[in-house]
Amino acid sequence: MSHMTKQHQPLLQVSGLTVKLRGFHNAALVVEDFSLILERGESLGLAGESGCGKTTAALALMRLLSPGLELARGSVRISGEEVLDLDEQAFDDVRWRRLAYVFQGAMNAFNPVITVGDQIVEAIRRDRTKNMARERSRELLESVGIDGHRGGAYPHQFSGGMRQRAMIAMALAADPEVIIADEPTTALDVVVQAEILDLLNRLQKERGLTTIMISHDLAAIASTCDKVAVMYAGRIIEIGAVEKVLGQPCHPYSRALVMAAPQSDQDFRKINPIPGTPPRPDERGCGCAFSPRCPFARDICRAEQPPLRMVGGSTVACHLVEEL
Ligand code: SF4
Repeated sequence: MSHMTKQHQPLLQVSGLTVKLRGFHNAALVVEDFSLILERGESLGLAGESGCGKTTAALALMRLLSPGLELARGSVRISGEEVLDLDEQAFDDVRWRRLAYVFQGAMNAFNPVITVGDQIVEAIRRDRTKNMARERSRELLESVGIDGHRGGAYPHQFSGGMRQRAMIAMALAADPEVIIADEPTTALDVVVQAEILDLLNRLQKERGLTTIMISHDLAAIASTCDKVAVMYAGRIIEIGAVEKVLGQPCHPYSRALVMAAPQSDQDFRKINPIPGTPPRPDERGCGCAFSPRCPFARDICRAEQPPLRMVGGSTVACHLVEEL
């Protein structure tokens, strides 16, 4: 018998994922060196202002980039198997069966003229008979808290919260290992937001799902995720355990985000918005992309891009993190 033990492979390992504007040279990067490791059952929140590359990084994982963007380089391994260089037909088996996506804006993601149940049936149909798929569609709707008989309704007949639940049911259709939820609670009222987060938490535990939740809502990430990656100008600038990064953020941008987030018991007048806006991909210079907005910026910040490195329990990209 061989004495070699099988090397542990994380469920999801993303390395150096880089996306650029199509037709531009390497300087116009929308996502740069996006890397992370998630084990089975772990959940990660992707935080940052709009336009920081969160959705683009996630769509790059699914190979669903819009035509104006292209993957420049990177690797995505699921249980050790590289999936980014598979041909489109082989990747079709990965998409939805291994990696599934809950799109932002559940109303627009559904076809308005097909019943919700039939859209879920279509997502399941590949390898089942129509009757089996109908039965499974009912089960899936029940598993997300919708009466299975409501599958005959059209998307506009559902409330916002029910549409979001149905979107999650559709993403679960092929029993994926990883589910990516893009702003799953945006545009829902506070009570329904909490119900959707509970649902995601429950599904994650019951199914051992690995989840990535994109959200600008740090409270939603704190209540749902084990880890958080904060993105700024296309790069991860801090990543670590959620209690560490949101409780004691090290990077000045993560700190500013936490300060800008409303707390439930906070007077709204005390929220500190971050002055300025993130730079566009073609506006970024050679230094730290946050330097124009950072109150601590020095010459080195404007001259050199800080690399990600381990500092006190999280991984941070800031030249001055030790001093701060
Ligand atoms: Fe601020 Fe400099 Fe750190 Fe960038 S590297 S976040 S500019 S202190």
